[in-house]
Amino acid sequence: MTRKSASEVATIPVSIYDPRCRRCGRLARFLDRVKAEHPEYHCRPVAPFGASDASLVVVGLAPGMHGANATGRPFTGDYAGELLYATLFKFGYATRPRSLSASDGLRLLDARITNAVKCLPPGNLPLGSEVRNCNRYLEAELATLPASASILALGRVAHDATLRALGHAPRGRAFAHGAVHALEHGVRLFDSYHCSRYNTNTRRLTTQMFERVFAAIGRHRGNPRRAAPRGRVAQA
Ligand code: SF4
Repeated sequence: MTRKSASEVATIPVSIYDPRCRRCGRLARFLDRVKAEHPEYHCRPVAPFGASDASLVVVGLAPGMHGANATGRPFTGDYAGELLYATLFKFGYATRPRSLSASDGLRLLDARITNAVKCLPPGNLPLGSEVRNCNRYLEAELATLPASASILALGRVAHDATLRALGHAPRGRAFAHGAVHALEHGVRLFDSYHCSRYNTNTRRLTTQMFERVFAAIGRHRGNPRRAAPRGRVAQA
C-alpha cells in the first residue's frame, strides 16, 4: 500500500497529518493567496506518501510551489522529484522511475516520503518557528519507525528537524553530505544534499553522489539487492 487515495489520506491520524492545520499563520495566508491564483492546486498541508511502517523514510524540506503544493504528493510535479524517484526506482523502492501525479499509480516499496514542513513556504524558505511548529507531525510520524529503519534527510533543515523529532540534540551529529548517524534501536540517519534543481544543476549533488548514499542505506539494511542500482552489483 503506498498510493494515497483521498480516503487513505483521510485515515492518516491527525497527529501525523492534519489537512486543515493553519498553525503557521504566515504559511496559511500564503497558501490562500496561491490558491486564489491557482484554484486547481492542492494548496494545503501535503500528506506523507508511503506506508506508515516503511523501513526507509525520506525527509525533505517542504512542498514546492508547482510540485507537491500543486499535486498533493511529496516531490511530485516539479524538478526536485526527478532524481529522487529515479533513484528510489533504481534501488527497488518505487515501482516507476517518475512520479507524475498523485493518481499515476506509482507505489513506494517499503519506503515513505515526508517533509519537515508540510506547507509551501514563500521562496522555499520556512522560518525556524514554522519548522518547530510542524515538528509535532514529524515526531508522531517517526514514532512508528520500525527497528533498524533508515532515515534519509535531504539537507540540513530536514536533518535538524529529524533529530528534534526523535528527541536528539544536534551536538555531535552535524549535517554533512554522506554522513551516517547511529541512533537508538538500530536506526540510522543518512544525510544528503537536497536533490533540488539548484543543487543538481550546479553539481553540488550528482547522480553518483546520491546513489552512494542509497547504497550505504542498502548496506545498513543488509540487503544486497538494494545496495546497488538495478543492473549493477553491490561492492563489498
Ligand atoms: S507547516 Fe505544519 S504546522 Fe505549519 S500550518 Fe502547515 S501543517 Fe501546520
